[in-house]
Amino acid sequence: MTAEPALFESFARVLVIMAHPDDAEFCCGATAKRMTDAGAEVIYIVLTNGDKGNHNLAVTVPDLVRTRMREQRAAAELLGVHQVIFMGEEDGFLQPNRELRRRLVRLIRQIRPELIICQNPELYLRGEGYINHPDHRNAGLAAIEAIFPAAGNPMFFPDLLAEGLEPHSIRELWICMVETPDHRIDITDLLELKLAALRQHTSQFEDMEALERWVRERWAEVNEAGERVYYESFRRMRFG
Ligand SMILES: [Zn+2]
Repeated sequence: MTAEPALFESFARVLVIMAHPDDAEFCCGATAKRMTDAGAEVIYIVLTNGDKGNHNLAVTVPDLVRTRMREQRAAAELLGVHQVIFMGEEDGFLQPNRELRRRLVRLIRQIRPELIICQNPELYLRGEGYINHPDHRNAGLAAIEAIFPAAGNPMFFPDLLAEGLEPHSIRELWICMVETPDHRIDITDLLELKLAALRQHTSQFEDMEALERWVRERWAEVNEAGERVYYESFRRMRFG
């Protein structure tokens, strides 16, 4: 279940499509670093502007959006991510509609990634206490509906084809936040960097030490040698 190094070297371009600033760091921050270390160009697409990520009414929405963009860029930079594209959709109301699909198809055809990493459109609830944010589901749905059938089919969005944006099909899709992952990346050696990237999102965590403790405890597994090990986990789909 753990990936081989050669796998990372097989991807020249990787696109990470997430709902909010900070989602990528939680889902696949260390994996993104593995990819960039192996020579891949990694690009984030952040679908919403994160303008609900705040409980302090003294902060204006434009200030919050600017802060979150700055935090996301800083986190991405730590992980070697080459570019962050902000789509600017309203936080909390993300809809996988026709226009968003068109915008994503445009980017997929421009960037032409072999691998896309996205969120799980099927996860509504987890355990006793977690309601999945609707934007996470809809971000996954928007990504998947752009990947198939639209990005690879010239009959979709002929105006994009007229611009020279040829159809593009990805080789692999990795979906995070799944209940039964079939593909795990050992990130033990990158845990500190992942935490450092999460720490860039200062506007989101009142108690950063509590977050770090939670990550260190909740995400830990103990291997046969009795050492703590950490993973980022995915459902891995392969096409063609
Ligand atoms: Zn989120």
